[in-house]
Amino acid sequence: MTTSESTAMTVNDIPQERRLVTAIPGPKSLEIQKRRTSAVSAGVGATLPIFISKAAGGVVVDIDGNSLIDMGSGIAVTSVGNSAKQVVDRVIAQVQDFTHTCFMVTQYESYVEVCEALNRLTPGDHEKRSALFNTGAEAVENAVKIARVYTKRQAVVVFEHGYHGRTNLTMAMTAKVAPYKQGFGPFASEIYRMPLSYPAHDGLTGKEAADHAISRMIKEIGAENIAAIVIEPIQGEGGFIVPAQGFLPSLVKFSNDNGIVFVADEVQTGFCRTGKWFACEHEGIVPDLITTAKGIAGGLPLAAVTGRAEIMDSVHAGGLGGTYGGNPIACAAALGSIAAMEEEDLNEKARNIEAIMKPRLAKIAEATGVISDIRGRGAMIAIEIVKKDTNEPDPDTTSKIAKACHAAGVVVLTAGTYGNVLRFLPPLVMPEHLLDDALTIIEQQIKEVTA
Ligand SMILES: *Cc1c(COP(=O)(O)O)cnc(C)c1O
Repeated sequence: MTTSESTAMTVNDIPQERRLVTAIPGPKSLEIQKRRTSAVSAGVGATLPIFISKAAGGVVVDIDGNSLIDMGSGIAVTSVGNSAKQVVDRVIAQVQDFTHTCFMVTQYESYVEVCEALNRLTPGDHEKRSALFNTGAEAVENAVKIARVYTKRQAVVVFEHGYHGRTNLTMAMTAKVAPYKQGFGPFASEIYRMPLSYPAHDGLTGKEAADHAISRMIKEIGAENIAAIVIEPIQGEGGFIVPAQGFLPSLVKFSNDNGIVFVADEVQTGFCRTGKWFACEHEGIVPDLITTAKGIAGGLPLAAVTGRAEIMDSVHAGGLGGTYGGNPIACAAALGSIAAMEEEDLNEKARNIEAIMKPRLAKIAEATGVISDIRGRGAMIAIEIVKKDTNEPDPDTTSKIAKACHAAGVVVLTAGTYGNVLRFLPPLVMPEHLLDDALTIIEQQIKEVTA
């Protein structure tokens, strides 16, 4: 098999191609969209008004027969590709054995196996423990609970542009008000937001940006009151902001020196997405706790907190858990997903995606003058769209480009505090010829929209 073909093992034998047979959305999707409008809360958004019947590898196929290239992975979830064989086989076997017992009532081995894998794969060779949950937000909430019990302190530090979820505590921790927080207050207390390192905008070194944040923490909160510093090593919803080198290590040092629990929220960046198992590894930092979800289980809902044994074990028995946390089907999917990542070396695949995308995007930037920054790592790449030859964010054009890509059969997502980031999160198993086709479409649409 050549590298331009798919090496992904999927159970659905769907051609890995972009193929449009109707307008997007097609007539069948339009029909269901009508029912959706009268059945589903208007508060639940959707990027594309289409309905999917099958998906595999790098494509999603809608009920009208259109095959779209998936540059979103259901928001960084299907890193191993949709319907990956290793995931599907294990899930089917598990469904036939049993579907649920509640790990807090009667236990099963796969939960333990997932925790062992997490303890082995996450940064640092210290003794670790894990606990399993259902969603990223739940993992972040639990990391905060654990840090507060361990430190007997209350304050939680988060950062500008940060995203941590949609529950009450994680809304408070999330930076951007619209759409995530608008009207949903009051929010949880004892959350303090600090400036981030944002190289394309602040012009500071990592050390300078960290010193600034640290001096504010000392003055405004007091180091001795801080239970946890919670940060995404690369901001996800904030627009794939990679902090300047040295920023994260300075925060880790400050945490270690002051008895603060350093929590890396790797819900989006984890599990090979950035070309390493965890994005912390790019900076050589070892977090005290790490939260994971999204890419962990090939599409099934699973999340985890993993960290230092003395911190994780400081919680009283019964203090952590939940009815579905670490559901056996989700655990089976996670073990399949991790096996696929190891067997198919998806870290290497993620790095290859970066190596293909960045030069192509740089050419588009040069040709159009509307891309002010190209950033990210591995298969987590973003561009900032600005008014031609300026640094002024252009959210309208960004959304027009995204819509034009959708109409042409490429699923792309937007992000960013200023709404001007196009972000790309292809499945790591995306065949090269599909990635190439997606980039050609993205180039055409950027050129047409900004002509
Ligand atoms: C998506 C995300 C969350 C929330 O995860 P859910 O599963 O949607 O609750 C938390 N943190 C980060 C960094 C995320 O990207």
